[in-house]
Formats: sequence, structure tokens, C-alpha cells
Amino acid sequence: MSQQNKQSIETNLITASTRGDYEQKTGAVNVPIYLSSTFDQKHFDSFGPYDYSRSGNPTRDALEKTIAELEGGTRGFAFSSGIAAISSALLTLNAGDHLVVTNEVYGGTYRLVTQILTKYGISHTFADFTNLQEVEAAIQPNTKILYAETPANPLLGITNIRGIVSIAKRHGLLTFVDNTFMTPLYQRPLDLGVDVVLHSATKFLGGHSDIIAGLVVTKDEELGKQIYFMQNSMGAILGAQDSFSLIQGIKTLNARLTQSSQSAMKIASYLDQHELVEEVHYPGLPHHPGYEVHASQASNAGAVLSFTLPNRELTKAFVEHVQIPIFAVSLGGVESILSYPVTMSHAAIPKEERDKRGITDGLLRFSVGLENVDDLIADFEQAFQAAKKIAVVSK
Ligand code: PLP
Repeated sequence: MSQQNKQSIETNLITASTRGDYEQKTGAVNVPIYLSSTFDQKHFDSFGPYDYSRSGNPTRDALEKTIAELEGGTRGFAFSSGIAAISSALLTLNAGDHLVVTNEVYGGTYRLVTQILTKYGISHTFADFTNLQEVEAAIQPNTKILYAETPANPLLGITNIRGIVSIAKRHGLLTFVDNTFMTPLYQRPLDLGVDVVLHSATKFLGGHSDIIAGLVVTKDEELGKQIYFMQNSMGAILGAQDSFSLIQGIKTLNARLTQSSQSAMKIASYLDQHELVEEVHYPGLPHHPGYEVHASQASNAGAVLSFTLPNRELTKAFVEHVQIPIFAVSLGGVESILSYPVTMSHAAIPKEERDKRGITDGLLRFSVGLENVDDLIADFEQAFQAAKKIAVVSK
């Protein structure tokens, strides 16, 4: 039975993708994978709902409708990666335009803004988005977009979403928010007035480290048309099989992210009192500088945290002794993932800029999976003890 009435997001995660024609026709509980690049045109002078899968595919369509509904938007768009989603959305800008970008930004977005957009005459200024005055001061007459990530990668800095929306409205700008760390389960930027929401769906939305995918959601119809034009013209679409996997991942998001976030809170508290840890960055800890702002715009602190150890030697020894998490690029999987931003997610940022941003040789990012949290803590503890024996603990 189809249910269109207003219901909670936990329910929508399950039902949003199971309302298509296929369900009416067959009762199938899963969206079929339409492996068809092209579609037979039944009439000489009119197209059917689909003509070619770059322009539209029924499986991708089900995913795009799902994310639009979950984010409270009107249109969703699925791309072949998070960075494909971000680049297609930012290429709606024209030569001569300018954007203000958060200092604390995913390394691939930094590279896109500094090395690709500049080639097409689109300029930028980086600003500290935890400081609204600094954001406003960076606006130029040709600025078109304020671009935020919150919580940001990798130090979990918090942008006041309502704050940047209000600045943007005063100056006639658009706001773009990368919502990868929160997902619509915990934070819905469009409800707070944001214009474009972006996701690396490779992460929590997919949830199983098996696909690379990106999503964009808009509310405004005209903006939706512009993004669709870019999606179809640039062609970085998500294929039907990956669209199906992502729909399946989204259905279990609540169960996965709820448990991982509970564990993250426990691990953050453990690390926070640890003698070898200099600093823990997690918006669920009351001493996090963005704690209150985050609590005012999101319903949970999520499952990613980072922490700083005194030096590279100790960090290396710790990583070499940890046994349960994988040591890898990425986050948001069912397995816990320990990452080293300096050589992984933020390697595209020059060292000097990384140092300014606090992405130091002792920084580790941790994405909490679904393992038993006490096992994870015990594993960390044995790794700390082993590391202490072989590395100098100089601060
Ligand atoms: N945005 C954030 C916050 C990310 O962490 C990432 C990847 O790590 C991306 C965007 C890019 O996504 P993808 O790797 O799916 O292209």
C-alpha cells in the first residue's frame, strides 16, 4: 500500500523508495534494476518518460526521489561520486563568479575549487565558517555562493547554518551545504533555508563501503533545472546497479547510524580522558567549540570523530598496533575506519595550508562502525600501551 501522509524520517527511509509504479504493478518490495541504456519510443513524434539513461533511468529516478523526500527538497540528483556531485553543482557558476568556501573542507573539494574552477574563471576565498563575521567579510561584489561543510572534515568544525543562510539572503547569495557527516537523518539543511545540499553517498548513506556515489538536493525549481542541466550535460550520473545498492543502504541508515553514533559518543569520552590524547574533536562533547550550535541544528553528533596525538611517531605506532578498524580512506561504513588525513583525505591540500587548518601529523580521524564498542575501546587501549613503549611521548 502506498502511504503519502506525513511520517517520521525513520519511516520515510524505508518507504520513500517503495512507492513507484513497479510496486503498484507487481508488489515488488525492491526497486527493479533497469539495466537499459535506451528506451523504445512508442510514437514518432513524442517521447515516453525515459529516452536515454544518462538523461533519466527509472532506478536512478527512485533514488533521486528518495533523497529529495528525505532532505525535504523537490528534486534529487544522483552522481557517480560525491566529488562529481559537488563539481556538477558548482559548475552552475559562470566565469567571473566568486564563491566563499569554508577553510575546513574535504581535500577533494579544495582541489576542485583551487585547481579546476580557477581554470574556468571562477574564483574563491577561503574563510573560517565558525566565524560568521569572517564569512561576511569575504563576500565580494561577484560572490554567488557560500559553501559550507558541517560538521566539517576532518576537525568536525561547526558552521551555524541559520547564520550563513541569513548572511546569504542579505547579500542575495546561494548557500551550499555538504551534509555527508550528518545525513538527512540528523540534519536537514534545506529546512533551515539552505539552497543546495550535497552528499558523498559513498559514506553513511551507502553504508557498506561497496559503492562510490554522490547526491545533490534542491528545493527551488529553477535551481533544480540548472542542476539537472549540468547532470545531463556533464554526464557524471550514477549507474542503475549502484543506484539500487544506495537505495538498499538508505533503508538501514537509521539502525546503522544510531548504533555507530552511540558508540562514537562512548569512544570520544574514552579518548577525552586518555593521557596520550591531546585533543578530541567531536561535536557531542560539551567542550567542543561548536557543541551548542550543532545541537541547535542537528539531532545527533554522528559517528565520526578525530583526535590529536602528540607527534607522528606515536601516531604511526598506534596505527600499526590497532587491530579491529581498517586503516583506510573513507568513512561511514559498517566497519570502523581509521584514517590519517595528512596522507589520505586531505593530501590534496598543501602542507602549509594543512598546518594552518590544524591538520597535523598527529591527527587521526575515526569513523565508528558496528563492532562492539567495548571491543573497539579495548583495541585502542592495547594499541596505545604498545605505542607508548616504542614511541617518545614528547608534547
Ligand atoms: N564530501 C565529504 C565531506 C567527504 O568526506 C568526501 C569524501 O571523503 C567527499 C565529499 C567526496 O566524495 P566521494 O569520495 O564520494 O567523491
